Formats: sequence, structure tokens, C-alpha cells
Amino acid sequence: MTTLKTALVTGASRGIGRGVAIELGRAGYRVAINYAGNVAAADEALALVRAAGGDGVTVQADIASAADRERLVEEASAGLGGRIDLLVNNAGVAPTLRADLLEAGEESFDRLYAINLKGPFFLTQRVAKQMLAQEADAEGFRGRIVNVTSISAYTASTSRGDYCMLKAGLAMMTTLFADRLAADGINVYEIRPGIIATDMTSAVKDKYDQLILRDERGITPIRRWGRPEDIGRAVRAIAEDRFPFSTGAVFDVDGGFHLQRL
Ligand code: NAP
Repeated sequence: MTTLKTALVTGASRGIGRGVAIELGRAGYRVAINYAGNVAAADEALALVRAAGGDGVTVQADIASAADRERLVEEASAGLGGRIDLLVNNAGVAPTLRADLLEAGEESFDRLYAINLKGPFFLTQRVAKQMLAQEADAEGFRGRIVNVTSISAYTASTSRGDYCMLKAGLAMMTTLFADRLAADGINVYEIRPGIIATDMTSAVKDKYDQLILRDERGITPIRRWGRPEDIGRAVRAIAEDRFPFSTGAVFDVDGGFHLQRL
């Protein structure tokens, strides 16, 4: 049984999830690195977590699948010494094809619903039950949960309305679980990333380069792309219990994108 704290991070093979896993490694965590299919990327992420001072395991599982979610929790718990101190719901996908709101199809909606909202909801329900059965740690917590939403939870993009609606749903999921679990020693947080350089945004790099760097004022007051470690550092602060009296809190890690400016 390890004395290190433990985390399950979904979608941790690449992008933001990998950045989160590495920062948790720096904080001395053991991390279960979940991924959908890219085993080489997951192995690389684990090597980086170890190089940062942590340890962990990789677990393939499609969070849209009930059977996979069950196996994910079992394999992650076994690999982490029987305890999950932190769940980070990070895995998520963008629409394969952007479509105008008046033309958007059910196939895309159903795919995003299963991965971006239903999967995280039932995974959280399952992990929360396990956390409730865990002994409270030195800080008095049975666990912590972080949901990675998006500026799309409140920003309209009419060419990917499904993504926006489901991120808004994930934001409400944070509120619900925060309320339900507060008295049980489990705090729940939402992190709202802005525009972060990952594979997800690589297809629209030119558009965002223009908006962030070249337009006269810039779409974000802090004029640079976000990096996976920006999100990782925010999760690490939560993992190190810097916010013990906050639950349901929203962290805008977005270069100031959310500010209303005149
Ligand atoms: P990414 O680079 O495309 O990485 C996606 C990760 O999720 C990969 O590890 C992938 O695994 C995993 N994944 C995909 N489908 C999965 C499934 N069904 N089950 C389990 N894992 C799955 O994406 P990202 O940009 O890091 O985004 C991570 C999260 O941040 C998403 O929820 C996204 O909506 C959110 N976000 C991103 C941005 C941004 O600008 N990038 C902004 C706001 C919010 P494989 O490697 O095996 O494919």
C-alpha cells in the first residue's frame, strides 16, 4: 500500500490531461492515466509522470462505455493501492465536423453526449461511492473531484452547439456533486480552460493565432495560447488542498477570456 496520494485522470495520454498528470507527478502523486486508444501516448505520459517524481499506471477505457468505466475504476484502484484521492474528469472530444446549428445532426450530438457528459456523470457517481467508503485523509477529506469544462460552457459557437450545451451540462454537474458530497468530505471543482494548445485545437491553429496574437486587441487579455501545464498547475493546487473551504468553485484558466471588455 502506497503512502503517496492517488489520482485517476481521464484522457491523460495527451493534451491537457497529460499536463495534469505531470503536475500531479510533481506533487508526488500516483496517477492512473486513462486513455481511449493511443497506448504509445499513454506510455509516454506515464514516463513523464515518473520523471516528474510521481508514479502510476495506464488504463485503457472508453468513458462512454458502462463496462469500460467499471473496469477503469477497478484497474485504477488496484494500480493505485486501493484508493482514489482525486478524480479528474478531463477526457472529452470536439465534434468531428462543425455544422451550423440549423443543420447539426443527432449522430454528433449522441457521440459528444456519451463522452463529454454521460460518461463523466456515471464515472463520478461510481468513484464518489468508492470515495465515500474510504477513510478520511489527514486533511479530513475522503476525496476531491475536478471537472474540466470549457469557456464553451457559456460562450456561443453556433458551429458546434452540441459541444457548448454539453460543457454547460458538465458545469451543472459540478454544482450538483459539490452540493451532494460536501458533507461527506468530498469537494468538487470546475476548471474552465480557455484556448489551449493541444491536438484538439491544432486544426484551428491559424484562426486562434489570428484572434489571440495578431488582432489589434487580442481575444484574451493575456496574449498567448494556454498550455496544458496551465491547467495542470490549477489542478495541482486543488490536489495539494489549497482550497479546503471551497466547493463548486469555478476556476477560469483562460488568459482572462471571460472578462467583459469595452
Ligand atoms: P486532446 O488533446 O484531443 O486529448 C484528448 C484526450 O482524451 C486523449 O487522452 C484521448 O485519449 C482521451 N479520450 C478521448 N475520447 C475518450 C474516451 N471516449 N474515453 C477515454 N478517453 C478519451 O484534448 P484536449 O485539448 O487535451 O482536451 C481535454 C479536455 O479539455 C476536453 O474535455 C476538452 O473538451 C477540454 N478543453 C479543451 C480546450 C482546448 O483548447 N484544448 C479548451 C477547453 C476545454 P487517446 O490519446 O487514447 O485518444
